[in-house]
Amino acid sequence: MSGRAVLWDFDGTLAARTGMWSGCLVSALALVAPDVAVAADDLRPGLRDGFPWHAPHVGYGARDGDAWWGALLPLLAGAYVGAGVPAPVAALAAARVRECYTDPAHWTVFADTLPALARLGAYRHVVLSNHVPELPVLVAALGLPVDAVVTSAAAGWEKPHAAMFLAGLDAAGSPEEVWMVGDNAVADVAGAEGAGIPAILVRTGGAPGLLAAAERILGGVAARE
Ligand SMILES: [Mg+2]
Repeated sequence: MSGRAVLWDFDGTLAARTGMWSGCLVSALALVAPDVAVAADDLRPGLRDGFPWHAPHVGYGARDGDAWWGALLPLLAGAYVGAGVPAPVAALAAARVRECYTDPAHWTVFADTLPALARLGAYRHVVLSNHVPELPVLVAALGLPVDAVVTSAAAGWEKPHAAMFLAGLDAAGSPEEVWMVGDNAVADVAGAEGAGIPAILVRTGGAPGLLAAAERILGGVAARE
């Protein structure tokens, strides 16, 4: 073991997607049926459960991108139907969600992301995220200078499952010093701590941003001193 590393959550920590999943479904529907209107609020109930990260205790094994998205199609189509979209249109729109969700143009890197990564330039940076198969391509397209990307869709496990953190440690080269930084108290912080990795909560519920987290890492101060 050698070196130092930070495991970074992606969505809500390093970057965010405008409108998130419900907004993406609105956009995908507009591609196939511009005359059918649906509100993001009406889609949300159908998206509250059924994504792989809603059942993190269940491993599903590594899938390729087509299989991962294929398994998600019934959930996406069901969300449309639940919002009043006719089933044939819902199926067409669900098939367009993939290209919409993974379009880098819809993603914004937070203002403190690049400065924090630079401040921790002596650390190996690994993205460790419950996310879609295309996350490595998306991270590269957004210009994030990270050393590795572990997405749950490829790993077959979701945070807070310990298997995801083991995958993160492996991608980081089994460093002797490692931290987890993320905006989810359960998936990121409790999950990491359960795997023996000190964690820092950011952005949520009054938690600090990434530059403050970087200073805590440099000072060796864990989330719960
Ligand atoms: Mg997050």
